[in-house]
Parts: sequence; structure tokens; C-alpha cells
Amino acid sequence: MQQLSNDQLLSVAEKFGTPTYVYHAEQINSRYQQLTNAFAQSDVKIFYACKALTNINILKYFKSIGSNIDCSSINEAKLALHAGFEPQQVLYTSNGIAFSEIEEAKNLGIHINIDSISGLEKFGKAFGHSYPVGIRLRPNIMAGGNLKISTGHDKSKFGIPIEQMDEILQLIKQYDLHIKILHIHTGSEIDDVEVFVKGIEVLFEIIPLFQELEVIDLGGGFKVKYAEGDKVTDIELLASKVKSAFDNHPNPNGKPLQIWFEPGKFLVSECGYLITQVNVVKPTPDILFVQINSGFNHLIRPMFYDAYHRIENISNPSGEIKTYTITGNICETDTFATDRDLTEIKESDYLAIFNAGAYGFEMSSNFNSRYKPAEVLIENNDARLIRRRDEWQDLLRGQIDIA
Ligand SMILES: *Cc1c(COP(=O)(O)O)cnc(C)c1O
Repeated sequence: MQQLSNDQLLSVAEKFGTPTYVYHAEQINSRYQQLTNAFAQSDVKIFYACKALTNINILKYFKSIGSNIDCSSINEAKLALHAGFEPQQVLYTSNGIAFSEIEEAKNLGIHINIDSISGLEKFGKAFGHSYPVGIRLRPNIMAGGNLKISTGHDKSKFGIPIEQMDEILQLIKQYDLHIKILHIHTGSEIDDVEVFVKGIEVLFEIIPLFQELEVIDLGGGFKVKYAEGDKVTDIELLASKVKSAFDNHPNPNGKPLQIWFEPGKFLVSECGYLITQVNVVKPTPDILFVQINSGFNHLIRPMFYDAYHRIENISNPSGEIKTYTITGNICETDTFATDRDLTEIKESDYLAIFNAGAYGFEMSSNFNSRYKPAEVLIENNDARLIRRRDEWQDLLRGQIDIA
């Protein structure tokens, strides 16, 4: 893994101010290459799940390294096209959307995974066999780091439950639907390769029912390292299991099946850092608090998912170790880390929060009427601003003062 150095992070803080998200392009590339190398023996395509981080420069970077792109809304699909992706490189895996968005996606010429019986029926009525589509299935597999990020289990809203296969087949017959993709995405932070194998086995049972099938889309959800000693998805093991599974199950319709993946976190989590500055060091009888110029308005993962994020005092990397609770500055509990051993912290020190590339800036808000952070991209050791920090006008933008 290609980490930014302490000095690189410090110089971003000094040059661009804080709080600022910093992304490291070469780190993204190294994760992308790891995937494509691991799957080199299979017919695999990678679609970056861009909801993790959609800055237009990040999208363009993915385009430049040869990636395809997976979208969760029609606006993400339009951003992808705006960034220069060809329609056939763009996949829209939809969930609970209005049919008008599916029509719009079809008019853009992108791949679509439909995730409801109702959507499939409307699509069949409108377009019949003329436009090949995918179906997002719910395989009823429990997977992922915690319930909030599990999407394939038997109480999940995502996908068409596999039990409703008869209804799906009926619609295909009735409207002559052209089904070219079967999709499953069972959750995020899946560290157990067997979960993917189980998903594939569920699919092999139904593949013979789809005569025009060309693609098996296995979604994303690869786990990366947040804390020392974390288990991660063994990509190389996964690649060898996927290869042997598909070698042993040739597509009955004779066409070789292509395999798609949609990783988000795996590609961009580790490339990102949120650099913050310490406003207040607050000793209390029980806890030594450090309050930084941020909060869950900038990085919601610790409060929303109980996520662990490594933090380092980049202003004093070799100081004496003390135990701190790191919080933000908003009027709501916004703990980043509890009882964390860190090198001694003084007011005005810069703290870097790691693994901040995925679902960091993307889930940020203006809560407490605070500004969203700036974003900086480092490529070839060159640090460039790719989004300015919010300004006063941004808080009023879109509001209509009727007084
Ligand atoms: C969110 C999402 C992904 C990416 O998940 P990660 O855990 O970030 O890899 C992939 N596919 C779909 C359909 C998603 O909703």
C-alpha cells in the first residue's frame, strides 16, 4: 500500500487549511491493479461503485486507468458520462427508483440492473426485447460487516427475492425481456470469500433459466484494513475460487459468461485522509478530550456505523503516548475515537484520520451550518485542490428568502 508521508499530509494542511480531505491517486491505481492482476485469468470487468467518492477528478482518474463505473442514481450516471465514460462503461444498479429514471438510463444507453418485479414489468411493457437489461436478485445470504451494511439477506429491501423466480420467468416470457445480466450484491466489508462462493452457487442453479445471459455481476463489498490486525478480503483467493467455479460451470447457452465486480470501498477507502486541526484540549476528571475542527457533519462513519478510523497526530508524530477521546465541534455527540493512545496532542496540532476516502466527503453535510471540507488530490507528488471549501454563499444557495 502506498501511504502518504507525514510531511506530505502536513504540507497539505499548511497549504490548503483544514479540515481537508486528501486523496492519493497512486493508491487508487495500486488497488485497481491488484484487482485486475488477481482476476487476469478470468473474463472480469471492474466497475468502480462511485457512490463512495464522486469528485469529478476521481471519476476521470478511474477512467484514465481503464476502470468502468457503477452508479446508484441517475445523477451519478450523468456525472460518469460527464467525466468521459462511454455509455457501455456505465452500469446503473438501481434500487426503488421511479420508472422515469430507468427510462432515462435506457435513453443514455447505459447498462441497467432492475431490482423489482414492478420495474421489470414496466420495462417489459415499454421496451420488450429491444434493450438488454440486468436483474438484481436477493440471494438471501447474510453477509457484511454489520446489519446496516448487509443487503442480501432475507429481510433486505434490495433486489428481487430469489423465491420470486417464477414471477420473473413469467414476465420474461410475457414481454420477451432480454436478460443479459444477473446481479447480486450481498453487503459491504465482506471478509469471508466463501460468501461470494455461496452467491455464485445460488446463481449457478438459475443460470440455465436465462437463455440470453452474458454477465454475472457479483457486486462489491470487499473489506479493507481499518485497524491493525483487521481481516481483509483475500482477493487472490477469491479470484482463484471464482475462476474454478466458472470453469466448472460453463454457461449452458454456450456463450462464455463475463464476471463483473462493483467495488467501492476497496478502491478508495485507503487513498483518503481527513486532515483536521485541534481546537481544544479539554481535560475532565474521567476523560481527556481533544476537540477537532470537524464532526460527523464531515465524517459520519464512526457515529453511523461504529466504524474504527486510525488517527495520527501528524504535528507531533514521535511524542509521548497519552490516552485521548477525540470528538468534533458540533452540537451533538460526535466521537471519532474513544480512549485512543496517541502521541501527545496540543491545541493547533493537525490530526489525520485514515481510511477517509470511501463514504467520507460523500456523506458529509452542512449540519450546524458548518462548511463542508475542501478536497485535494495528490498525483505524481503534486497536490491540487479539487473542491474548494464551502463559503458563506454556499449556506444560502438554493434558499428562497420570502420575507
Ligand atoms: C454500495 C454498492 C457497492 C459498493 O460497495 P462497497 O462496500 O463500497 O464495495 C457495489 N454495488 C452496489 C449495488 C452498491 O450499492
